[in-house]
Amino acid sequence: MPVATLADFTDADACPRIVVKVGSALLVGEDGAARRAWLETLVGELAAAHARGQQVIVVSSGAIALGARKLGLTKGGRGSLADAQAAASVGQIALAGLWAELLAGHGITAAQILLTLDDLEDRRRYLNATATLGRLLAAGAIPVINENDSVATHEIRFGDNDRLAARVAQAAGASGLLLLSDVDGLYDRNPRRGDAQMLKLVRGVTPEVLAMADGASGSGVGSGGMTSKLQAAEIAERAGIAMAIVGGKSNAPLASALAKGSGTLFLPRRRDPARKAWLGGRLRLKGAVVVDDGAARALARGSSLLAAGISAVEGPFARGDAVAVRDGKGHLLAHGLAEYDAEECERLRGRQSAEHAEILGYAPRSAVIHRDQLVVL
Ligand code: GLU
Repeated sequence: MPVATLADFTDADACPRIVVKVGSALLVGEDGAARRAWLETLVGELAAAHARGQQVIVVSSGAIALGARKLGLTKGGRGSLADAQAAASVGQIALAGLWAELLAGHGITAAQILLTLDDLEDRRRYLNATATLGRLLAAGAIPVINENDSVATHEIRFGDNDRLAARVAQAAGASGLLLLSDVDGLYDRNPRRGDAQMLKLVRGVTPEVLAMADGASGSGVGSGGMTSKLQAAEIAERAGIAMAIVGGKSNAPLASALAKGSGTLFLPRRRDPARKAWLGGRLRLKGAVVVDDGAARALARGSSLLAAGISAVEGPFARGDAVAVRDGKGHLLAHGLAEYDAEECERLRGRQSAEHAEILGYAPRSAVIHRDQLVVL
């Protein structure tokens, strides 16, 4: 039985492998120091999950906030990219040390993995990460993961650990993703407004659900905010992973939120095969093709994308690159791996298949994006 309630996140049968993401505002107090006493209670709960037979992966934020204090940097270390990188390298040692020490108190070995965006975007590196995670979990360790902030620059970084955690959950084949946050769930409007209502259950991250996020990080300490949490929910959903946003401020947060059913549960409506889930969850695409209405309808029915339905090509991209497929109004329809480079796509655009051999001067492929390499979003 898959996860169907918040309480199921602590059930080893419903959720044999769980990713728990801990936000910066929970780990680091307003004084810039680690909230050690609180973390001890969370680690106690994770150790209990481990003892019940659940395999646990932690995605821990907090490096930048912790390092900023040690280096005496302003704005929590987020004043500039250079500050954030310096703060992260100082804070990460302390952060990993703290997790390792507290887990060791329960006889559990911690394993640190620092990832950049490309480690999970590139298929080969993604599979490497999957193998490492699997081996660590089989050996009984708890991986503690963060973004490799000290080397990640704007173009190559996630920038928030919500999407990182969703990609990790996907790579690890997890059943559940728990985002512990300083907000206690998804509200239908800004929770600072008195009339805001918390949603208990979301089935499918629709445009209406996305519109409920207002972007900024609630606490100003982390970099996530509700937008990145909903993007994480989209990634998790595509991979068939249940996700929850729960408030983590109080001690022993799993017991206080999950057992009481307090938080927002996101249940997946689909489960794409592993390769398609990876492709659908890609965050960085090399280019795009714009398609006409007929092609958009054909894609929705599960067809391959043919050149005749393409109205514009945005390159450059090479054969085999992941590209976005959009309709004429700019709506994202699909992700796919292109069978041709951008220049060839441009030459074939709008032309019937029978003409392709003559245009290209060589035997054409059957489609610009084959349906096996296409994920409708
Ligand atoms: N990787 C960042 C850190 O460790 C946190 C990113 C986030 O706030 O989501 O400080």
